[in-house]
Amino acid sequence: MLAEAGGADAFHLDVMDGHFVPNITFGPSLVAAVRRRTKLPLDVHLMIQQPEKYLTAFAEAGANTLVFHLEAQGDASHMVRLGREMGVAIGAALRPETPLDRVEPLLAHLDQLLVMSVNPGFGGQRFMPEVLPKVRAARERLDALGSAADLSVDGGITAETAVGVASAGATFFVCGNSVFAHGPVAENLAALRAAVTRGAGRVVR
Ligand code: ZN
Repeated sequence: MLAEAGGADAFHLDVMDGHFVPNITFGPSLVAAVRRRTKLPLDVHLMIQQPEKYLTAFAEAGANTLVFHLEAQGDASHMVRLGREMGVAIGAALRPETPLDRVEPLLAHLDQLLVMSVNPGFGGQRFMPEVLPKVRAARERLDALGSAADLSVDGGITAETAVGVASAGATFFVCGNSVFAHGPVAENLAALRAAVTRGAGRVVR
């Protein structure tokens, strides 16, 4: 696949159920199809109302990381335990308006914290700079815990916005349109990687 050849470090797949967000995308069978075509890690973002019900199906489909939303239904601690049992990394996601405090009890047990920088549900939206203080605060809390969890930012990431996001302490940059909408994928990825390096010199995925 172009993104793999172009130097992406992982694939981020947005699963939408028409309930948690208005849009509908795909389920475990597409994740399994992607799994057959790449060796890169599959980061599966569950924008669904009942993630707890489907964790096993997505893990069996070949996801490496399952990211559920704290605003969705279900027992978050149980999902973290289930992930451990299945050998899958577990992440928790926050919508732009959800305060960081919501994730506090789970933070030490997560493999990834995902901060949304657009309202979830549709691609192609503009980055919301007002989430940067939340990214900075998340970086401080993860560092205070000695956590090696990825701090992921999802929505409107471009070579311009990635600089500020990287300097706020993010380690994982989810890119859609800025990689795929215009021009060669490899060049777009290289531009993003350079922007992240300008921001912080951290490792990008
Ligand atoms: Zn996503």
